[in-house]
Amino acid sequence: CGIVGYVGAKVPSSRPLDVVMEGLGRLEYRGYDSAGVAVATPEGLASAKKAGKLTNLVGELEQRNLPEGTAAIGHTRWATHGAPTDVNAHPHLAGEGRIAVIHNGIIENFHALKNELTAAGVTFVSETDTEVVAHLLARAYDDIGNLTEAMRSTVGRLEGAFTLLALHVDSPGTVVAARRNSPLVIGLGEGENFLGSDVSAFIASTREAMEMGQDQIVTITADDVVVTDVDGGRVEPRRFTVDWDA
Ligand code: GLU
Repeated sequence: CGIVGYVGAKVPSSRPLDVVMEGLGRLEYRGYDSAGVAVATPEGLASAKKAGKLTNLVGELEQRNLPEGTAAIGHTRWATHGAPTDVNAHPHLAGEGRIAVIHNGIIENFHALKNELTAAGVTFVSETDTEVVAHLLARAYDDIGNLTEAMRSTVGRLEGAFTLLALHVDSPGTVVAARRNSPLVIGLGEGENFLGSDVSAFIASTREAMEMGQDQIVTITADDVVVTDVDGGRVEPRRFTVDWDA
């Protein structure tokens, strides 16, 4: 039930995996049954996910020795479709592991979309509604070649509630996200930017934030934040400073 995204170009302090794990810790109060992360590096994506408490994921990360990455996304799940298992935990990968997606919410029309994808030859490994989004996004990306535009096209096909974050191996310094009927805020840093279900995800690093409106898409890199609407028009979200103590 929590989401974190991070891109940072600060060297040597840039540590995307650490930042995302810390953010997930701060979102634990929201409740969850599983947790997972994905990192992007110029060599590819790496991910880890575990049912149960965040400490299970920490143990997995210690064994697997994931790279810090140039961008990272993290998720705590409150299962709605599929039991709380390792396989059903997020991220969900598609496009031969070239794309990773995390999701809070429910895709109401996932059944019809899953049937359509299955008929097109897609094999599903989980029972989640989210995996449908990962495959739709991978296919849109193959057509369009741009992660932001692929996200825009994909969310146009979805019904329900979602905060979605995605990484693609072709753009290892970018996180793309979208929201509808589910929260997402942007944290603005110097040479680094954040995404979170709420500001507690990044409050330890920055108090400068922006509110994402309904049906908007955001693309963050280390130095830039671009928010657009469903038609691709540029949006200037409301900026605010978090004034409570972490
Ligand atoms: N519907 C998704 C699932 O069951 C996401 C649940 C959540 O909000 O964490 O995997």
